[in-house]
This record gives sequence, C-alpha cells and structure tokens, in this order.
Amino acid sequence: MLGREPPRPRLNKYGRWVVAVQSRTLYELLKKPVDIDRIRPFVEHCERCISMFLRGFFDSEACVYKDGTITVYNTDYKLLTYVIYLLEKISIETTQKEPRINKRAGGPFREPKTGKLYKSRRDVYYIRIWRGFNKRFYEKVGFNH
Ligand SMILES: [Zn+2]
Repeated sequence: MLGREPPRPRLNKYGRWVVAVQSRTLYELLKKPVDIDRIRPFVEHCERCISMFLRGFFDSEACVYKDGTITVYNTDYKLLTYVIYLLEKISIETTQKEPRINKRAGGPFREPKTGKLYKSRRDVYYIRIWRGFNKRFYEKVGFNH
C-alpha cells in the first residue's frame, strides 16, 4: 500500500467494516494524470488492494441513479479501461468492454453529482456496471457512504 500506514478499519452504523479514509487516501495519492504502469503493482497486489482502489475510485467518481445503475464519468479513457480490467479481475462486469463516449469536448456537460452545467474541455467517457453484477459490486467493492 505504497508504504503508508496500514488501514485501520472501523465499524460503520450498518455494522460493516470500512476503511474509509484509507481508500480515499489511496485514490487521492493517485491524482491525475494517473500513471497506470506505476500504480499497477500496488493496486493489483491482491484482491483486497484491487477492491480498495476501486472503492476509492467509485467513491470519488461514481454516480448511482435511482434505478440503481452505477455509472462513472471520466475524461481519462485509459484509466477507465484499466478500471474495467480491474472489475473483470474480481468478476464484476460492465455493460461494455471499453469506455463509451458521453460528451465530446466543447459540448455542454452536466456534472451528474452536482447537476452543474459546464463546457467540457475534454471528451467525457463513461463506464457502467452491468446491473446483474450490482450485488457483487456492493459485496466486493461498495461505497464508503
Ligand atoms: Zn494487497
């Protein structure tokens, strides 16, 4: 885990152990632009490390719609491709095998979380968890909140 302090899990109000700060920290540590080749050995160290990385990523970037659909929007195509690969490693499938274009650069883009409208400076891509794998996603990855 990049030589940081070992995760200190705590019980949340649902009686589930969480490592909130650490996975967020891990993700913060990997601030853009993410050098995938550099982080690979740490992220893929074991299944738990993969889960922690994904939790940090989805916690920061994902949008959960009312129908339960879990979608992530990002401008980093390579990073999204890597996330699909990691999800597959822990047997969670996305609706597409590669990131899909959501908005081309220059167009208006509504930030899904805040609803704020802005002009995207770069192409925005998305990936979506295949609904049949939501349960597994919550078991293996989950969110901190
Ligand atoms: Zn590990």
